[in-house]
Amino acid sequence: MPELPFAVWIALAAVLGLLVGSFLNVVILRLPERMAAAWRREARDVLEIHADAEPLPPGIVREPSHCPHCKHPLSALDNIPLLGWLLLGGRCRYCKTAISIQYPLVELLSGVLSAVIVWKFGPTWTGLAGLGFTWTLIALSGIDFRTQLLPDQLTFPLLWLGLLLSLLPMFIDAPTAILAAAIGYLSLWSVYWAFKLLTGKEGMGHGDFKLLAALGAWMGPIAILPIVLLSSLIGAVVGGSLIALRKHERDIPMPFGPFIAAAGWVWFVAGPNLLDGYLHLTGMR
Ligand SMILES: [Zn+2]
Repeated sequence: MPELPFAVWIALAAVLGLLVGSFLNVVILRLPERMAAAWRREARDVLEIHADAEPLPPGIVREPSHCPHCKHPLSALDNIPLLGWLLLGGRCRYCKTAISIQYPLVELLSGVLSAVIVWKFGPTWTGLAGLGFTWTLIALSGIDFRTQLLPDQLTFPLLWLGLLLSLLPMFIDAPTAILAAAIGYLSLWSVYWAFKLLTGKEGMGHGDFKLLAALGAWMGPIAILPIVLLSSLIGAVVGGSLIALRKHERDIPMPFGPFIAAAGWVWFVAGPNLLDGYLHLTGMR
């Protein structure tokens, strides 16, 4: 690594995070569309319906960005993360339709969290792994928020990467990572079945188990219970506020993935400090 002041590394991480954030926006929008189209095609094959093949939705990497409303391609200037949206005043340059606040929010989140990761882990391989971890969690949260899905295409690579890094080891050793992945999966799996047997309802999706398994592979069994408690806490606060503000109906399922991801990220960056602070506050240390 070249010699640069630490503050410059953090600024570089923020800029990289902003740029990756605009790519994450594309993933959040297009990955579920492509999954749904693939499912419809499979369903037609299974049912032997020989309808005209529908065109696949746009690819994630190759197709250029365009306004979702008027389809006008975006200029390089409009595509600048965060600034593009601010300069346009949140409206399409061509048809003046409002552009979703999701775009600048995801970019800002990605920029800030990336800076925090490099501040915490430094410009190191560990920091790089932390960035991949962070970006995957942002994409998963965005997709779950919009579609109530946590795609295997993202949860599995996160799990594999956590397990592979444990071979080095980077954060935890391999036996710990394997054990934690199993505990992470089974803990929510048992909650799911208990809830289903008691109420006959589905309280969460299988993607939630896989996400917690992946987080276990990165952080070990010690992290599982705090992540579940923290995600329930964040979920209760956010869900309660949304219901109070009448932005969300009580009976409509709320995605749980974003809260697991948020709790997992917080624990990844600050877990041991949080535990120390809690023990200190309650007089147990
Ligand atoms: Zn437009």
